[in-house]
Amino acid sequence: MAGRRDDNRLADAQAVPIREIVERLGDRLDLKRAGVELVGPCPACGGNDRFSVNLQRNVFNCRHCGGGDGIRLVQQVLACEFPEALNWLVGAADVQIDPAEQKRRAEKRQQQKERAAREAARRREDAIRAARAIWRAGQPISGSPVERYLARRGIRIDLVPGQLICLRYHPDLPYMVPGDAGNGWSEIWRGPAMLAAMQEPSGRFSGGHRTWLDLDQPKGKAVIRHNGEISKSKKTLGSKKGSAIRLVQRGVVPVMVMGEGIETTLTAAIAGTFPDAWFWAGIDLGNMAGRRVLSGKGMKYAGVPDLEDADAFLPPPGIERLIYIQDGDSEPKSTRAKLLAGLRRAKAVQGVGSIQIVHAGEGRDLNDVLMGADDE
Ligand SMILES: [Zn+2]
Repeated sequence: MAGRRDDNRLADAQAVPIREIVERLGDRLDLKRAGVELVGPCPACGGNDRFSVNLQRNVFNCRHCGGGDGIRLVQQVLACEFPEALNWLVGAADVQIDPAEQKRRAEKRQQQKERAAREAARRREDAIRAARAIWRAGQPISGSPVERYLARRGIRIDLVPGQLICLRYHPDLPYMVPGDAGNGWSEIWRGPAMLAAMQEPSGRFSGGHRTWLDLDQPKGKAVIRHNGEISKSKKTLGSKKGSAIRLVQRGVVPVMVMGEGIETTLTAAIAGTFPDAWFWAGIDLGNMAGRRVLSGKGMKYAGVPDLEDADAFLPPPGIERLIYIQDGDSEPKSTRAKLLAGLRRAKAVQGVGSIQIVHAGEGRDLNDVLMGADDE
């Protein structure tokens, strides 16, 4: 069924700038400009500012429902399936397009792609520079609020095998969000933070992960309110694609354990189940999973990795066994499919012999399980 015409239609649909899609969706969305984003209530689940469209990266996100690309946005707003979204974006499949127009569209796609790639590369380097400046201002975590925060999460740093050189403490880090005026940034919070270095496969510093702390809060993380909603206490700056936070790494060993977050991964490191493994945090699920291919009836994203994705995380050569930790607090079926895609990529591309998913527990993250903490 999928032929050349379908490939062209998919490419055409993917090339439609998300700005144009938002315009076409019109009154179905109620968004205000905030920096490079459009922000407002989610068309599916409401709220005030939980829904955002990033005009530069051509993606959208709802903090409740999730997000994706422009096609996914059409699906979400019009509550339709993938094929209908494609029809809505680029017309029905049986419409003939003459070859000259076909060619013009292909050229336009190519130009847009090149321009976007140049802009993305420039923004990426700017962000890495900014992240490096923050990292340099960081202090050792020993004796700092970072040590107390981790202890609060059940992680004693003296039990972690190895030095946590990829973590630092910043006593007074500003929390910036895109300004309401459309340009620039505004500071909505400032306070102590845990910094983590993100590194590319080559080892180059690729950005910083930041967790704002408030030890007066039950979970030790800052509760940052902005426009009537609670903002995430964790943010990354720089490029997380293909990168990882290298928490525990000693000598050359064949086993790697990777969780999404710093706390989950450190908890696994001190649990002692894999005493000689490397423990890296994968930063987010998307990075660990990488791009996947549409497959099966209705073209769904299952656990099949797109091996062309050069940006996704891959373990370094020589890793014989790779274990991904599945957080219990995320939607189990789709999370598992994503993790599986990442593991299969590692197997196919990097020759990892054995792959495995370890469950952190139903409705809890591994940290909560090991701490014996109550569900929230
Ligand atoms: Zn939503």
